[in-house]
Parts: sequence; structure tokens; C-alpha cells
Amino acid sequence: MDLSFADVAAARDIVYRHLPPTPMWSYPLLDAAVGATVFVKHENVQPVGAFKVRGGFTLLEAMSAAERARGTVSYSTGNHAQSMAYASAIYGAPCRVVMPESASPAKAEATAALGAEVILHGPDLETAQRHAEDLARSTGARLISPGDTPELLAGVGTLYLEILEAEPDLDAILVPIGSGTGAAAAAVVASKLAPNCRVIGVQSDASRAAYDSWRSGELVKRPNRTRVDGLATGRGFDLPQRLMRDGLSDFLLVTDDAITEAQRLMASRAHTLAEGAGAAPLAGVLSRPDEFAGKRVAVVCTGGNANAGELATLG
Ligand SMILES: *Cc1c(COP(=O)(O)O)cnc(C)c1O
Repeated sequence: MDLSFADVAAARDIVYRHLPPTPMWSYPLLDAAVGATVFVKHENVQPVGAFKVRGGFTLLEAMSAAERARGTVSYSTGNHAQSMAYASAIYGAPCRVVMPESASPAKAEATAALGAEVILHGPDLETAQRHAEDLARSTGARLISPGDTPELLAGVGTLYLEILEAEPDLDAILVPIGSGTGAAAAAVVASKLAPNCRVIGVQSDASRAAYDSWRSGELVKRPNRTRVDGLATGRGFDLPQRLMRDGLSDFLLVTDDAITEAQRLMASRAHTLAEGAGAAPLAGVLSRPDEFAGKRVAVVCTGGNANAGELATLG
């Protein structure tokens, strides 16, 4: 396999050079609403507002000086872009990101403000990916897949070390899935530190490529219609799918509306502004009240970069 527990443990030294651990709290009003003990892991407080920055640092650290000088080109709906931009600025590496024209303007602006070159191109991530591949060929920059890059998984895995060291006897950790890097890394960490803790993925039923890839055991493409941009991928990614195959205990689909409802609950009961993807794990818990009743579960609030539309629906 291309990701071991030792890789995640080693990434922690790199990540902690740049970022403190994030807090994890539970909230009595949220527990009462859910009927379970819910631990919210707060990746929304990362400097770029999402967990992916842990992977960005781990990747930049692993690159040679020559590679860093040539820089990277990647494709993203927003948070991978900000992560690459943030880490690249600190390592002095040029960073280009191709984003779909439909990307959240706030995420595109934030990425540019961090010093990356942002190229808005095409209607979806697939088209953005093809353009990024062309740019990598023509410029010599390293093409970074947001899903199939082991260093990114090693870095994001560090948040699961923090969760399981703080709460070693959880019944489950729920992780939102786009490409699956976070959930795959969670599975690797949990299998070592807490084999009885279930790792459960959550995806929007409007973009279910990772779900159907996991269920079928093959990498499939699916329509990508979710309004939740952190979860908006249209295909399965090889590396995370291989790790999730045996590593995930279950995979839940929720509706975009259920995700919005969970965002409201995070705001009203947990003082937390979550973007849709960051509230999807809570939506997963709420979708199975009997299964999670009385249990101790961690929900990963992967990001807080709510867009204007999301903010409007929270009122
Ligand atoms: C990228 C992202 C996800 C999905 O993570 P994957 O590793 O692609 O599965 C979930 N939430 C937020 C906020 C994200 O930025």
C-alpha cells in the first residue's frame, strides 16, 4: 500500500512545524439534539479554513529544491487550491491552480491572495484537470492530483492521530468524502490506534462517484451535481479507494438539504460556521439516529469556508 501509519506519524513533525493541533470539543446542546456524544474536530480553524493544508505542507517538504523551483500545478474546487497556495508560499515554490469557472469566488480570491496563480477554466473539475495536465506538460511544473498523491494523505492523516489520542475509545469517526484522502488516511490511522473504532464515510447523493466506486470495487464516474463544493468530485480516485476498500466500515449518502440542516445545527448548537462539506458528517449521524443513539462519535468539521449562498441559507 502507498500509505502506512509510519508515513502519517512522520508527517506530524512536518505539520507541527507550521500549524498547532486543532481543538476538538463537544457541546451539550448538540449532544442533546443528536442523542449521542458528538466530538467536533475543528479543522475549520486552520489558517486556510480547511484540513487540507496539513497535506500541502507534507507535500512541499517532500519535494526536492529543484522540484520546488519548478513549482506545482493542480486542480481544485477550492480548498486544495488554498492549501497548495499557503504551503507553496512558505516554501517559496510557484503554485498554479486551475479551478472550474463555477468555483466559489471567495475560495478563488483567497487562493490568489495567498500568492498562487489561479486559472478559472471550464465547467467542472474534469475539464480543469485536463487543463492542469496541459500546463504541467508545457511548463515542467509538477502536476498534483488532489486525490492520488500519497504525501497529501500522510499529512491529512495527522488530524486522526489528534482525534484518537484525545479520545481513544470512540465508537465511530465520520469523515466527509470527495476524493477520499481524508477518509483513507483515517482508516489507516484507526486500524493502528483504535481497531474497534468504525471509520464511516459520508458523501452527497448528488455527487456519488466515491460511494459507487467503493460499493462496486471499481473506479466509476458519476454526475456531479452537489452544491456542496468540498464534495464535488465526479470520479473515484485510485489511491484513496484502495485504502478505503477494507478500511471503511460504512459509507453513507445524505442529501444536500440534510447537509444544510446539519450546517444550521452546527451554527446554533456548536458555535461553528461549517461549510457544507464540514457539516456532512453530522448529517450522516442524523441520518441514522438508531445506529448512533448513545454512542461516542467524532464528526470532522473539515472546513469553514462557507460561500455566500450557504451563509444566506443559515439565517
Ligand atoms: C476536500 C474537502 C473534503 C473532501 O476531502 P477528500 O479528501 O477529497 O475526500 C471535505 N471537506 C472539505 C472542507 C474539503 O475541503
